[in-house]
Amino acid sequence: MNASVREQFPILNQEVNGHPLVYLDSAATSQKPRAVLDAVRRYYELDNSNVHRGVHTLGSRATDAYEGAREKVAAFIGAAHPEEIVFNRGTTTGLNLVAASYGDANVNEGDEIVLTPIEHHSNLIPWQQLAKRKGAVLKYIEPNPDGTINVEAAAKVITDKTKIVAIAYVSNVMGVVHPVKEIGALAHKHGAVIVVDGAQSTPHTKVDVQDLDCDFYALSGHKMCAPTGIGALYGKKALLEKMEPVEFGGEMIDEVGLYESTWKDLPYRFEGGTPIIAGAVGLGAAVDFLNELGMDNIAEHEHKLAMYAMRRINEIEGLRVFGPQERKVGIVTFNLDDVHPHDVATVLDSYGVAIRAGHHCCQPLMRWLEVSSTARASFYLYNNEQDIDRLIDALIRTKEYFG
Ligand code: PLP
Repeated sequence: MNASVREQFPILNQEVNGHPLVYLDSAATSQKPRAVLDAVRRYYELDNSNVHRGVHTLGSRATDAYEGAREKVAAFIGAAHPEEIVFNRGTTTGLNLVAASYGDANVNEGDEIVLTPIEHHSNLIPWQQLAKRKGAVLKYIEPNPDGTINVEAAAKVITDKTKIVAIAYVSNVMGVVHPVKEIGALAHKHGAVIVVDGAQSTPHTKVDVQDLDCDFYALSGHKMCAPTGIGALYGKKALLEKMEPVEFGGEMIDEVGLYESTWKDLPYRFEGGTPIIAGAVGLGAAVDFLNELGMDNIAEHEHKLAMYAMRRINEIEGLRVFGPQERKVGIVTFNLDDVHPHDVATVLDSYGVAIRAGHHCCQPLMRWLEVSSTARASFYLYNNEQDIDRLIDALIRTKEYFG
């Protein structure tokens, strides 16, 4: 990635606490390129209207923009049909929809739901709630000591009683890529479906849901250069077609009577109410932007940065990195001596370096790591080696400060 890519992100061109901003919190949310900001502004300035029912010109322009975005997202993740893409608020909403709709209809007492203990709360609590509603059993794949997950461990817990296996493609804490294709094949062998949390994979690697053969795949636009408030759930058409909506109201109905109503075809039956039109336009623009750079180039850039960061971070004595040394995605989680991660993040911020500290919405993982919280630096396509050098310098000063 060259400097011109970074220049497309206006927010990065500012000083924070008297230092040029180094933004290393993209796993929480990514920054937005000018192309996305312009697309959203242009939509509101020229086309803003409600979709799917207006017979006027603005209505059809807005509908074309919204449905065009759906086609872009479908192509971006390799879906076979645009109607397999349900727009929503993001990964959390997508996973909750699968748990409430598919889960309620297909999971019964004594059935098993298989997860890992390193999931984000969004890929944990919806299944906990489903298990409680249905009297189902939660089972966990045991990670390796370095936080990686392998198929052999999955094979120990996936049985003929398993109805759902839900796992992140990439961990938001350790940046590890999980073998979701192989685990999915195992789930299918036992008649279960595989639900993939794609929040951290979609921004960073090329995704092909047909090649992965996953049944459901949830993503968040805001982590991949799009605005907040827009995301998508992919579901195989044959599964979505049999699922009941969980939100009812305008936009999702076919015929409404006083006592009975019927629903629209896919995907509209899952998009009750006025949709997130400008958000979808922004997501479409983000997909164009990422495609233009090339997902393989983005992945290679991040892999190089992640390895450079690991090398430099390992030079700091007393710094403990969680997860494997080798990593493809630019997420590095660590603790510095006994300094509380919030203090590390606060001192770094005073040098203009933005990182995250806390449990990263992964409290069970923190317990598994035997810590209460960690610091996390996460990189994206606009970061470079100088950003990592600035992180290292600020960490060395933090260490001296708490010395
Ligand atoms: N899953 C993972 C792995 C995440 O990193 C996140 C967000 O940090 C989520 C799910 C939830 O995403 P959202 O808050 O956009 O719904």
